[in-house]
Amino acid sequence: MASTPSPSGAVSPLGATPPKPVSGPDWRNWAGNQRATATAVLRPSSVEELADAVRVAASGGHRIKAVGSGHSFTDIARTDDRRVELTNLAGPVRVDPERRLVTVPAGLEVCELNVLLARHGLAMPNLGDIDAQTIAGAISTGTHGTGAGYGCLSTFVTALTLVTGTGEVRHCSAENDPELFAAARVGLGALGIITEVTLRCVDAFVLRADERPAPLAAVLADLPDLIAGNDHFEFYWFPYTDRVQVKTNNRVPADDRPLPRFRGWFDDEFLANTVFAGACRLGRAVPALVPPISAISARALTARTYTGRSDRVFCTPRRVRFTEMEYGLPRAVLPEALAALHRVVDGLPFKVQFPVEVRFTAPDDIWLSHGYQRESAYLAIHQYVGAPYEPYFRAFERLVTEWGGRPHWGKLHYRDAGSLRPAYPRFDEFVAVRDRLDPSRVFANAYTERVLGA
Ligand SMILES: Cc1cc2nc3c(=O)[nH]c(=O)nc-3n(C[C@H](O)[C@H](O)[C@H](O)COP(=O)(O)OP(=O)(O)OC[C@H]3O[C@@H](n4cnc5c(N)ncnc54)[C@H](O)[C@@H]3O)c2cc1C
Repeated sequence: MASTPSPSGAVSPLGATPPKPVSGPDWRNWAGNQRATATAVLRPSSVEELADAVRVAASGGHRIKAVGSGHSFTDIARTDDRRVELTNLAGPVRVDPERRLVTVPAGLEVCELNVLLARHGLAMPNLGDIDAQTIAGAISTGTHGTGAGYGCLSTFVTALTLVTGTGEVRHCSAENDPELFAAARVGLGALGIITEVTLRCVDAFVLRADERPAPLAAVLADLPDLIAGNDHFEFYWFPYTDRVQVKTNNRVPADDRPLPRFRGWFDDEFLANTVFAGACRLGRAVPALVPPISAISARALTARTYTGRSDRVFCTPRRVRFTEMEYGLPRAVLPEALAALHRVVDGLPFKVQFPVEVRFTAPDDIWLSHGYQRESAYLAIHQYVGAPYEPYFRAFERLVTEWGGRPHWGKLHYRDAGSLRPAYPRFDEFVAVRDRLDPSRVFANAYTERVLGA
């Protein structure tokens, strides 16, 4: 097993990465809709120090919460008590190139992981839209990308180590403590503080991205073939139109059609961020302009094809701030759900400025994964930051709850334990593991109390 030792004194296993800025007690998430002030910010530099901090907090009746990079929209990472940041818990990186297994500190950001893997000729099998999350944060909420052959990122975890609510250090995998493994891979930060994660990677690969506008009806008519016929298929529906933008990413042998630097900047930075931000601001100021802007956007998007390193194709910068709700649904109900969503959007007293993102994942065996034992279609709805969203999100949630919808743990939702229990067949087993691992609820916050019970 090759090993990348941490350079002495450096916090990052990548060595070249500059140290993270030290944050104060005030915390806010990326979207700016969650804020908190901690009584103390802890940055342990060893697992023992972390375990001590948990024991001290538990014995003093305090609460302690690990945060990642604050990219959840829910209050899942909020704490008004002790906040733990894992930036100093660097730990060694272990790479097993033959088995394609990589063990990394849990607080590593996905973008740092991607650089590290590329250096070893490896890659994550699939990724979400961005790479700014920490690994622990991403897996704790069931973060996912798209692709009928791929579960959420937690399905790539083969082992993890965590510090429980009694300060015990536990290691789990499919062979070693399978029950804890089934619970902790999507643990909502409620079972312990994850210190180390082993990921099953794949050989580095190139993706060919194809993006094109299409009528929604044509895409729905062709849906099974589009899902099965592409490694990664998704589409965006533009409210007030019958148009979508289709995106497919497929593995190809050669990176022979890279996006020219200017086109990449123009599409992904200028159009997707700068122009889109301007359109959102205009729509927020003059809501009557939203439907024509949506129609123009749907028509203005052109087709493009390019190749690139997998993580660079999967992930793009997101600078326009928004609020979001996302639901995992049984795949068969997608057309009905989209039709109902049309009616919700048309009936709202305000306008919806963001396209609706539709993605697909494979079933998995993780107890609180949205994809637990079912083929999923994900529907993600958004609003520009500062624009009204609650009636929209609540109306959508009422619909999808009926169809067995499971809310993304990191994205806004209004469900509680009583309403979530029927959606997750192993919900009570998860709660039982939590009772054993965190009997004094040192990791609890308002969010875990709502979704898991006190
Ligand atoms: C612009 C944007 C794009 C996004 N794109 C996608 C996407 O494509 N697909 C998708 O599924 N989601 C997406 N998300 C949601 C995001 O992936 C999740 O909310 C993810 O959890 C954020 O990770 P984080 O590191 O910011 O964690 P945080 O939000 O800081 O924390 C999330 C949870 O993880 C816990 N946690 C953090 N570190 C640890 C640890 N060491 N041990 C135990 N628990 C820990 C926290 O306590 C909290 O419960 C997106 C979010 C944004 C803002």
